[in-house]
Amino acid sequence: MPKYKATAYIRLSYTDDRSSESDSVANQRKLIENFVERNPDIEVVSYKVDDGYSGIIFDRPAFKEMMQDVTNGEINCVIVKDLSRLGREYIETGRYLRRVFPAYGVRFIAITDNIDTAQESSGDDLTVSVKNIMNEAYCRDISVKTRTSLDVKRRNGDFVGAFTVYGYMKSEDNKNLLVPDPYASRVVQNIFQMRLEGSSALRIANELNRLGILSPLAYKKNHGLPYAKKGYADREDCKWSATTIICILQDETYTGTLVQGKQGTSNYKIKQMEQKPESEWIRIPDAHEPLITKQDFDLVQRIRGLDTRTSPKQDTVYLFSGVLICGCCGSRMTRKTNRVNGKEYHYYYCPTGKKHGCANPVMLKESKLIDCVQESLKAYIQNVASLETLLNSIDQSSINQALAKEYTAHISENERRLEQAQAYKSRLYENLVEGMITKEEYASYKVKYTRQAEEIKASIAALKEKLTDVLENRSERNRWITHFTQFESMETLDRKALIHMVQSIRVQGKNELDICFNYKDEYEKALRLIALAAQEAELTIPELLRKAG
Ligand SMILES: [Zn+2]
Repeated sequence: MPKYKATAYIRLSYTDDRSSESDSVANQRKLIENFVERNPDIEVVSYKVDDGYSGIIFDRPAFKEMMQDVTNGEINCVIVKDLSRLGREYIETGRYLRRVFPAYGVRFIAITDNIDTAQESSGDDLTVSVKNIMNEAYCRDISVKTRTSLDVKRRNGDFVGAFTVYGYMKSEDNKNLLVPDPYASRVVQNIFQMRLEGSSALRIANELNRLGILSPLAYKKNHGLPYAKKGYADREDCKWSATTIICILQDETYTGTLVQGKQGTSNYKIKQMEQKPESEWIRIPDAHEPLITKQDFDLVQRIRGLDTRTSPKQDTVYLFSGVLICGCCGSRMTRKTNRVNGKEYHYYYCPTGKKHGCANPVMLKESKLIDCVQESLKAYIQNVASLETLLNSIDQSSINQALAKEYTAHISENERRLEQAQAYKSRLYENLVEGMITKEEYASYKVKYTRQAEEIKASIAALKEKLTDVLENRSERNRWITHFTQFESMETLDRKALIHMVQSIRVQGKNELDICFNYKDEYEKALRLIALAAQEAELTIPELLRKAG
């Protein structure tokens, strides 16, 4: 007759664990069965499975059922594959191990962590091992077993990393495919949007912190997702930093391109990662759903180039550098300066020239070019402004609904965190009395959780204000329009205005410029929307505009 009546407890978290075969429900079960076969003093009387629950919270249905069996005295042994199945939060996990289970005379076994309270001589050792195991769990879980096949997979456009880029998660059906993380992907989109509207990286970081949006590292920790230990440049207090923002703004992954093999080591225990040259990276375009259009991404990179043009050693970037293209051969046109009688004249010309195969190379005076482009831009800005007036006059409830949904998601995320902080705080005294933590730890945790709760409350208030704004139909719609209208009163054409509005200028001849504006798709979409509205109202567009204005 076996001495121990055991519950085998199995937990699978909602995203990343699925990618690791070794943590599937079937595998956890098999491992426990094998263990019990070797230990005849144990009989498994029940299996409890929490599928899709994070290890950070203990409010899981199967876990609660198991604890009911414990308190009813129906079982006296709990078996898990590894400690993190029980929980990933170390004070609470430790409380079960050191206080709750011993109080009910329950033997606890975490097979792969070699924890067995029937064998353990001292409880203090257990606390130490809990701490260490919590820290090590991820590294072990994600050690990649089949290194040789990785490059093949990378070249197929399969995602093979252990950690996903912030904003994406692994698909539940295909562990090699990245899919947008519903919450974090919207944060990424907002970061790009704020950048395009002219915010600096620091200002974006401050705004996200003000709204209580979790930084990438804090988000992954908070959701019990695996994270790279040195993978983020978040501030030490787990807040957004300007560096984190810059990293996100430069990451091509968000355009749907999978970039892998940037660095390599011979195995996961060797800490020294070697950075590989860019030419050896494996880049697969359209590997997954983009969060940012290629056009917006390129624009952000161009704006960044403008901001960093402060060093005197750097080559000067002229007004039309990179934007002006020879309509005949497609070369980027070059600027040159001629001096006549001590006066300077600037020109742009096709560097290919007749000699190297350009059939019709043109040369343009910069001053003439500026006049011409400035006139075109002014006219276009007027168009966009009228478009805005029209858009404002038609029903935008669908756009606002999407925004409202986004803010509501941020608010509930913050409310969940607030509840969590308050629950931890209220349990602190209990932990102190039970000797789980020292007086000093009690004091510092109390301060920490109190401050955290205050910060979250402030964020919720700020978010609710934004939500009200949206619901009252005031702000933030058609944000691309501001890229143009912000230059409405522009006196002289500068590089910032040019880069914000213009994708490229093709010089077709001395008097013919073909200007390709940014946000062409959005512009056309708006036009279609307005045409539709005009049709429904049985008005022409000028009539509609008169009515709206
Ligand atoms: Zn040319």
